[in-house]
Formats: sequence, C-alpha cells, structure tokens
Amino acid sequence: MLTEAKRRGLADLPPIVSDSLLALIAMVNADPRADKIDVGVGVYRDGEGRTPVMRAVREAEQMLHDQQVSKSYLGGAGDKRFADLLRPVVLGAHPGDERIVGLQTPGGCGALFLALKLIAAANPDARVIMGTPTWPNHPPMTRGARLEIVEYRHYDAATRRVDFAALAEALEAARPGDVALLHGCCHNPTGADLSEEEWRTIVEIVARRGLIPLIDFAYQGFARGLDQDRFGVELMLEACDEVLVTQSCDKNFAVYRDRVGCLFVKAATANNAKFVMTHLLQISREAWSMPPDHGAACVRMVLEDEGLSADWRAELDEMHGRIRMVRERIAASDPRLAFIADQQGMFSMLPLSVEQVKQLRDKHAIYMADSGRANLVGIADRDLDRFCAAVVETMNG
Ligand code: PMP
Repeated sequence: MLTEAKRRGLADLPPIVSDSLLALIAMVNADPRADKIDVGVGVYRDGEGRTPVMRAVREAEQMLHDQQVSKSYLGGAGDKRFADLLRPVVLGAHPGDERIVGLQTPGGCGALFLALKLIAAANPDARVIMGTPTWPNHPPMTRGARLEIVEYRHYDAATRRVDFAALAEALEAARPGDVALLHGCCHNPTGADLSEEEWRTIVEIVARRGLIPLIDFAYQGFARGLDQDRFGVELMLEACDEVLVTQSCDKNFAVYRDRVGCLFVKAATANNAKFVMTHLLQISREAWSMPPDHGAACVRMVLEDEGLSADWRAELDEMHGRIRMVRERIAASDPRLAFIADQQGMFSMLPLSVEQVKQLRDKHAIYMADSGRANLVGIADRDLDRFCAAVVETMNG
C-alpha cells in the first residue's frame, strides 16, 4: 500500500568515502613546513615548482580578450573549429573521413562521461575491460554509466612493467562488443606503457575479437612527443570500425581549470557516425548542455596560428624534456629506482609501503599517495636531490 511507504529524503543519503587524493591535498596545505614537497596532485611543474600558463595560451587569451565581440551560445558541440583543428593532432591525418566525428567536452572527464554513456546507450550489456591499478576516476565513471567492470592486472609490481600476458588474456576472454579501456600513453598511476610491439598485438586482438577500444588520451606529448604518442590511437583507427578516443587539453595546453577536452568517435559508416553525433549531443544536453568556451577558444586560436602553434609545440617539448630529466635523475639515485627511467609521463609507483609513505610525510614533508604513486615532475629542481635522498633513506629502513 502506497500510503504506508516511508518518506525518503536527503537525510537518507549514504556516506561517501572521500577521495584520498583530496585528503592528501588538505594535508599538504595544512603542513607549515616551508620545504614540503608535494608529489600527490597531478599537475606539471617547471624547474621552479610552478604550473605556468603556457606562452602561446597566454597570447591567445590576450587576443581573445581583444577580439571577442560576443559570448552568445555556441551550441552543444561547442567550438566546432576547435575539434576540427585538434583532430589531426590527436588522430593523425584522416582528412575528410566522415566515419569520424568529434565534439568539444568539459575536459577529458567530460569526454569519458560521454563515451561511457554512449556505449551504455548502444549496448547496456557491454562490459568494460579495465586494468588495475588505473586512474581512480575510471571505475566510478564506468559504474555511473551502469556498465559492468571486468578487471585484470595491468601492472606487475615485480617487473615494474605492464603485465602483458594478463592484458592479452583479458582481451581474448572478452565478449564481442565489450569495451577495451586503454591509456593512450603515460599510464596513470603506474607510468608503465605499452611498447609499439605490444600495441600491435593488442590492436590485433581487439579487432579480431570485435571489441570496442576506448582510448583515454590525457597526456599526449608527455611520453615520447606529440606525434609519436598517438601510435596506438592511429593503429587502432586503421584496424577497427568503431573506436572512441577521449582527449584532454588540460595537461598538454596546461589549461586544467578551464576544462578543455574532446571526444572523437569512429563509427563503421558515415551514416552511423551522424547518428552517433545525435546521441552525443543528446547526452551532453542532459549533462551540461554546452561545454565552457574560454579554454577551447584559446586552444583553437593557438592551433589556427602557425607561430603560436610552433611555440606551443616547442614549450610542450620543453615540458617533455623536463619529465625525462627528472626521471633520469631519480633513476640514477639508486639501482632500486632505475625502472623510473623506463616509464613514461608524470607518474610512477615508488617501491614503498604505506608505512614508508607515512614516514616520508612525517620526517621529510614529502607527500604522495599511500600507493606510492608520485607525480615526479611535481618536484622543483632545487628539491630533486633531497627527494631522492629521502626516498633512498626510507627504502633502506
Ligand atoms: N584520464 C586520465 C588518465 C587522467 O589522469 C585525467 C586527469 N587526471 C583525465 C583523464 C581527465 O582530465 P581532465 O582534467 O581533462 O578532465
């Protein structure tokens, strides 16, 4: 009987386990020690320990300020020219391929949200094949789209490499229509990427088994370079009829808080692609209606201008160079850390126990996630030697 039903309201909300990274940020902020080192939060820092606005973006912002005459709505797909100009950067040359559509999203998270919802709309029984550990937002976003997760071990902590056998086995065991969630490069949190040879094997399995690749591509330019880093994306596009690529400009244009990203979807036919686009617009309409413009407009202006574009690439190369330098320095500090030079991007998992991570916090004011995940490029040049010495001392016990 309906009349007897207990009223439920906001007081019935279950407790949320707070994101441990947010707790870490609060701890760093509360530490009064001036020499604290924060390798928890995932942003690029330069040698001085700053996260600067990139030169070309700064200039584009100025131009935008001077030239923009209206902030009227742009529509659900956002800045279409932004997506068109970004397409060859992210996917390589696929001019005029009408099976591929792209639309602007609020960051890489927005692209992932749309991608997972799109898959769920097409096939609610699709399962997402996901390596562990992975970026902590992947599982909740997948569950949010009501898709089942199938886990396999991505990282072999003994070899400090991808557990390639586990990956291949998981994909071989997947059902046609299941989703292979892969990191395009700079695996977060392990830094353990696929080699070109491994990509070839994975692409072959994905295509043969009829899986749908979903490539999360948040760090293009941070591994080997802008053009080399899309190796897996390009191979997948050649081999598969249906491919989703979630892209973020937030790292490689350093526009984090402006929330700039893009989703590219390849469908089997141009007609299917048009249909996909109608669904993407519907899903985004329900979520955020339209993406924010400012950051994407700046990225568009950088990509439109040859000079700014060249300067952006040059500065991105400098950032990439710093990532390599920091990795080499840490790797050289102790044979047990040598593996760090073989990994890519900002993150690696240091071989530390939770207790040792706590010791680093208490004794040395060095803050990282309990898992040992560290944003290596979060360390300013002046702190590098001290960081290495503290980690080695802690490992020695
Ligand atoms: N994917 C991965 C693997 C990430 O690490 C991040 C950001 N930390 C994102 C996607 C989302 O990035 P954005 O800030 O653009 O939403």
